[in-house]
Amino acid sequence: MPDSWVAKYTQVKAAGLIADVPVPTAFPDGLVQYPKGTDPASKDVCNWESSQCFMDDTINVAPDGVLAIGFDDGPTEAVAAYADYFKKEEIVATHFLIGLQILTCPSCMTNLVNMQPEQHLASHSFTHTQLPLMQDLELVADIGWSLQVIYDYSGKIPLYIRPPQGDIDRRVMTIAREVFGVQVVMWNQDHLDWCLLDAGEKETLPDVCKGTTLDSINTAYKGMMDASPQKGVLLLVHEIRNASQAPFRTLIAGAKEKKWKIGPVTDVDAKLPWYENAATAGVKGEAVDDILTKRKPFTVAGGGSTITLNGDWSAGAGGNTSAGGSTSGKGKSGASAGGNSTQTNGTDAGNGNGTTGAGSPSASGSGLTMSSPIAAALGAVAGLVIAGLVTLQ
Ligand SMILES: [Zn+2]
Repeated sequence: MPDSWVAKYTQVKAAGLIADVPVPTAFPDGLVQYPKGTDPASKDVCNWESSQCFMDDTINVAPDGVLAIGFDDGPTEAVAAYADYFKKEEIVATHFLIGLQILTCPSCMTNLVNMQPEQHLASHSFTHTQLPLMQDLELVADIGWSLQVIYDYSGKIPLYIRPPQGDIDRRVMTIAREVFGVQVVMWNQDHLDWCLLDAGEKETLPDVCKGTTLDSINTAYKGMMDASPQKGVLLLVHEIRNASQAPFRTLIAGAKEKKWKIGPVTDVDAKLPWYENAATAGVKGEAVDDILTKRKPFTVAGGGSTITLNGDWSAGAGGNTSAGGSTSGKGKSGASAGGNSTQTNGTDAGNGNGTTGAGSPSASGSGLTMSSPIAAALGAVAGLVIAGLVTLQ
């Protein structure tokens, strides 16, 4: 990994900006267990998956009337199949991408980058493993390489990450934010679209999928869009299978009928920028020497029904359209546990269903302009595989 990433981590760690949370161990049920004496539900640790603790300084809600869409686990072949529909309906969503998946299917990534209207790209980690299980520098590498590979294909450096399985704690969150300026995005609605198998597909789905059918998802989406008042939706959907497209079309039809504001996750607050090096859609990403943030990270305050941007994103970096502005709202504090989320546990589809089926990672013949960081990333991944941190299926 580049020395500059390690140096930045060392600097923010020394400044006391990285939460001091011990690394948990993995449990067979997919949850994590912290050492005795460490409470995962405490505000200082706040592991949502094992304790339902909900960090209110992450992006976790949407304002009323807003349908903010986040697709996970791409890019896949399904992206191309969506392209005409997105164009016709003028849909813009955020795509939380797996770094390894980009290298596995470079043409999928190219298709996504070229979609019209322009889609919003974000990180879903490089290896799609549970981030809290990684040591600090493994996290720096995993998050950093995911941003690097997205930059190498698109020219844009993401500002947002959604953790695989939604598994996150305060140490992971602060490393993402303080080293890379990246904000954590969760969700408040998930209706298990990934449980719908494509025609002819034979896969044993986990128990959580029991009872989930096209009808059940359609009904849930319709109820969500018909609701009054229109409680803001920060949606989790997946671009793994083509079967997810049918309910998604139902959702969009309902949203349009009821005049929801439809957009990417940055639509949860008008001041949120799209990228580190390009404030909005339609702006060419500024070329950079490395993907580290050149700004003091902005922070968000959520946990209620709105997200508030704290700080001035536009300050401290040159050359881009400002989308920052200075917001003074400190938002709400406390009340981070429990709360009003309708998140469902452990439904992130990538876990165990082979979405990162990379086999032996190779970017040869990808059409990618190979940069040495990518080659190094593959080496880093190989290291993680050896360390047993990555399950390649
Ligand atoms: Zn995932």
